[in-house]
Amino acid sequence: MQNSLNRQAAVFKSDAVFIDGKTPYYQSRLLNEYGIRHAFFTRIGGVSEGVFESLNFAEGIGEIRDSEEKVLLNYDIAAKCFGLSARDVCRTYQTHTSVVVFADEAKRGVGIVKPKFDFGVDGLVTSEKDLLLSVRTADCVPVLLCDKNKTVCAAVHAGWRGTVGGITKNAVEMMVGLGVAKNDILVAIGPCIGKCCYEVGGEVRDEFLAVDPEYAAFFTPKGEKFMLDLNKANEEILIGAGIPYQNISRLDLCTKCNEEHFFSHRRSGTSRGTMSAFICL
Ligand SMILES: [Zn+2]
Repeated sequence: MQNSLNRQAAVFKSDAVFIDGKTPYYQSRLLNEYGIRHAFFTRIGGVSEGVFESLNFAEGIGEIRDSEEKVLLNYDIAAKCFGLSARDVCRTYQTHTSVVVFADEAKRGVGIVKPKFDFGVDGLVTSEKDLLLSVRTADCVPVLLCDKNKTVCAAVHAGWRGTVGGITKNAVEMMVGLGVAKNDILVAIGPCIGKCCYEVGGEVRDEFLAVDPEYAAFFTPKGEKFMLDLNKANEEILIGAGIPYQNISRLDLCTKCNEEHFFSHRRSGTSRGTMSAFICL
């Protein structure tokens, strides 16, 4: 992916690698080339039941809740794929902010075996070895970042609010502040709701245009509504933040279209589980 022709190819061809097994997950081909430890888990391979079946990472926000115990077991199952345990996870406290926090050693286990963050945190950055960063999604965009030398990594939860609020850019800036060059930062944009399924109102488009009129390119009109392309939005915002396009990998998997593999808020409302993406050094 060295020239603009190849960039076109990258846009149309998914960079996803499917790792099949008892607990299957997706990876980014690009991040794999550099041996970066990461995974976008599916809904398969966990212990939760009913609407949370089965690899669910949140207790839920609807009338039906999953048990804390099962969520913890699911974290253990996922962490084992990294040779780690749930105690090594640091978990965001997602409230659709653009807040990114540096996770030092003291943050190991936060939201799992230690109290959760007491303020909204939608992105995490770390330079600690074997500290497993977790962001959870069910249509929103999980974005994983790491430098080529594997000295700093980050995990970001970007719904439309986080995307327009520049949360991925905030993560990049924190990584740069820790001594990483932008040219060395690799990014994987994980499974999320695709432009095929993500219909939004004009008020969402207005918020994007208020930041940059060029963001109109992320929207395709459909009657009085618009189809929003969150993959493209995050990719373009990262390029705008100085990340070379060949460093950005898109899995291009729609969570709403792929019911077998993914939970989707647009498909199921609050009666659903939540997936998690992980990265660590
Ligand atoms: Zn779709």
